[in-house]
Amino acid sequence: MLEKNRLGAAPRVYFRPEFKNCPHCDSKLRRTHTAWEKKIVTRDGIIHAWSMAYASKNLDCSHAGVAYKSAEAEMLSMKHSSYGYDVLALVGELRFKQHRTVAEIAEALAGPITSDDKAY
Ligand SMILES: [Zn+2]
Repeated sequence: MLEKNRLGAAPRVYFRPEFKNCPHCDSKLRRTHTAWEKKIVTRDGIIHAWSMAYASKNLDCSHAGVAYKSAEAEMLSMKHSSYGYDVLALVGELRFKQHRTVAEIAEALAGPITSDDKAY
């Protein structure tokens, strides 16, 4: 069985919603909980991403209790996956456009990304 933290130490990056006020009542949002946190492998390295959920402070808001999260954090990787979309796109490019073997793809991912590996 794989270790849960097999990716090792990585810099922590905290994400919060892109807006500070509730889009429905304009009251300030407050942090409520950690929506998720995981280590994500990107082409630029590994990050320990923390998506912080925020909700409206206004209890009379029509959307009270709705948790707002960072769109940027949601665009990093799929749910339950520790690989970034940029890595998945590169693997798809290498496999289906350049017809590389699994061993060649593993080799390309292990080393520095060259212009031959570039996904467009
Ligand atoms: Zn509101």
